[in-house]
Amino acid sequence: MAEETIFSKIIRQEIPTELLYQDELVSAFRDISPKAPVHILIVPNKLIPTVNDVTESDELTIGRMVTVAGKLAAQEGIAEDGYRLVMNCNEFGGQEVFHLHMHLLGGKRLAPL
Ligand code: 5GP
Repeated sequence: MAEETIFSKIIRQEIPTELLYQDELVSAFRDISPKAPVHILIVPNKLIPTVNDVTESDELTIGRMVTVAGKLAAQEGIAEDGYRLVMNCNEFGGQEVFHLHMHLLGGKRLAPL
């Protein structure tokens, strides 16, 4: 069994963090250390440690993460200008929290990858 991270506590609201979105599959909240004017994390409610652990049974959840990202981008007023969605995986990808998450970054012109 993978170990829970702080994100599970945020999802369950055991650590008070404003949830921008929550449904039966995913939750979203602002990154504590924003790297752009808009920096939101979209996470599955269920603990999936990394992209490597995603299975076909998670496809609805992963799809929901993307549709929620689009809705939040519109809500934040950054949809037309554009934004970036990022999922880091393991050490070389720069992953620090081992609870799958998608970064929604925007509100300024981002450096090319
Ligand atoms: P990673 O590098 O794993 O892709 O990104 C983890 C992100 O989680 C980082 O951008 C970091 O700032 C954010 N983060 C870490 N701990 C917390 C926390 O307790 N609350 C929130 N809102 N964000 C966190």
